[in-house]
Amino acid sequence: MNKSIEPHGLVVVGGGPAGLTAAHEAARNGLLPLVLEQGARVGGIGRTEVHRGYRFDIGGHRFYTKVPEVQRLWEETLGADFRLTPRLSRIFYDERFYQYPLDIWETLRNLGPVRSSAAVLSFTAARFGRRQRDDTFEEWVTNRFGRRLFETFFKTYTEKVWGIGCHEIRAEWAAQRIKDLSFGSAVRQALFPKRDDGPKSLIRQFHYPRLGPGMMWERLAERVVALGGTVETRREVVGIHHRGGRVTGIVVRPETGEARTIPVERLISTMALDDLILRLRPEPPAHVVEAARSLRYRDFVQVGLVLRRPTVFADNWIYIHSPNVRVGRIQNFGNWSADMVPDPATSSLGMEYFCNRGDATWTMEDDALVRLATEEIETLGLARRSDVSWGTVIRQPKAYPVYDADYRRHLDTIRAWLPALENFQTIGRNGQHRYNNQDHSMLTGLAAVHRFLGENTDPWEVNTERSYYEEQRVTPA
Ligand SMILES: Cc1cc2nc3c(=O)[nH]c(=O)nc-3n(C[C@H](O)[C@H](O)[C@H](O)COP(=O)(O)OP(=O)(O)OC[C@H]3O[C@@H](n4cnc5c(N)ncnc54)[C@H](O)[C@@H]3O)c2cc1C
Repeated sequence: MNKSIEPHGLVVVGGGPAGLTAAHEAARNGLLPLVLEQGARVGGIGRTEVHRGYRFDIGGHRFYTKVPEVQRLWEETLGADFRLTPRLSRIFYDERFYQYPLDIWETLRNLGPVRSSAAVLSFTAARFGRRQRDDTFEEWVTNRFGRRLFETFFKTYTEKVWGIGCHEIRAEWAAQRIKDLSFGSAVRQALFPKRDDGPKSLIRQFHYPRLGPGMMWERLAERVVALGGTVETRREVVGIHHRGGRVTGIVVRPETGEARTIPVERLISTMALDDLILRLRPEPPAHVVEAARSLRYRDFVQVGLVLRRPTVFADNWIYIHSPNVRVGRIQNFGNWSADMVPDPATSSLGMEYFCNRGDATWTMEDDALVRLATEEIETLGLARRSDVSWGTVIRQPKAYPVYDADYRRHLDTIRAWLPALENFQTIGRNGQHRYNNQDHSMLTGLAAVHRFLGENTDPWEVNTERSYYEEQRVTPA
């Protein structure tokens, strides 16, 4: 273990969960990290934004993991502020709430006799009919659940999230996330419903910091500093120089003032893979640059609404399947932690719009977005327009790495070239183009540092089994 490297001998790009975990582990082992975060606050997509005292996640962030060292780090960092929260999250469709995974009796009751008979018939036909092709999301779900259930509970939400038709999404996406339900088990579930399906602790409750996920990452940044590391915000890394198979320096641009070059002994990056490849100097080979340019992302706009009423709905969040509104999911932050909302006579919602940078939603003026969200909450029948006191808009670029038909090939091309830089590692969600949760990002951070400390670990090989994966989830986290 080399404990004698100079200050700035380890630079970490990005102060999100992956970067801060790496920095903390490095600092604990005597390597003094310099963390450079382009944003105004740490936490990455797991940050908490504060407007007029109201706290907003970027979507809600549950803290769950199967990995003891991750759980321990969370508990050590927050102590009593790391709390268990009861979970309730349902689908809202046609002014009714549906449990997910679907409860057969509730679904039939809510749909009414005509639509539920049609759903049962199409489900039965799908199970006993001749199976069609099974290549796309649409085919996979329709073959197993029937067209009626596909159209009611899968199609609209999935298309809102990804912005492309279900016939363009590969079946693997569905197969990974939706539990296939045999006809026999559907009948069994209907006749003898199980009260509790799945690991109770994870499905019915989850951990959440008292002041939102940002609290975790702000505290971890403080711990890094207390151990001798440095965390600087509003510092964007705009260039990475390399020579002879080693990163030699990075170019850092502060929010105001001149860019400067910092010599680097070792570099860990959590920036998105496409940015990374395009900022390397000299440029990597053309096929690697081409692969980087081909990676795609889905972006995200959240409209925070503050309402003059203490409750809106009982859930932490709800999925909006109705095709007549653009909103895809609604967070109810006071139900995550009462301390997210400074005035208990009010509620704060996060209206989530999945979009692409530059499209009509992304470029809409903030006022117009607040008006849209206000209209939609009334259209849905969840609150009145007049209940809304004020709103605020948060834009999150590159919220989701997209798994399109070609992403694996592009990723493999980039991955095959990166070991050319021996003192460099890329980790985290967009750093590995990985649709992950915070615990996975943290594990890649630990693996990167352990590798620099001489252990035989590889952040790309972080065992996904160890990172908690919630079966039957059709919805993105
Ligand atoms: C809507 C939504 C809901 C989610 N819900 C959950 C959940 O319930 N539970 C859960 O565990 N996970 C959830 N996730 C996933 C979670 O947010 C990510 O797994 C986690 O934030 C990834 O951490 P990271 O550090 O790898 O990346 P990021 O969070 O993306 O952090 C990367 C950081 O690097 C910085 N950066 C990038 N480029 C540069 C540069 N050039 N210079 C300087 N800084 C740079 C960025 O500003 C950012 O702060 C959710 C994600 C989304 C989009």
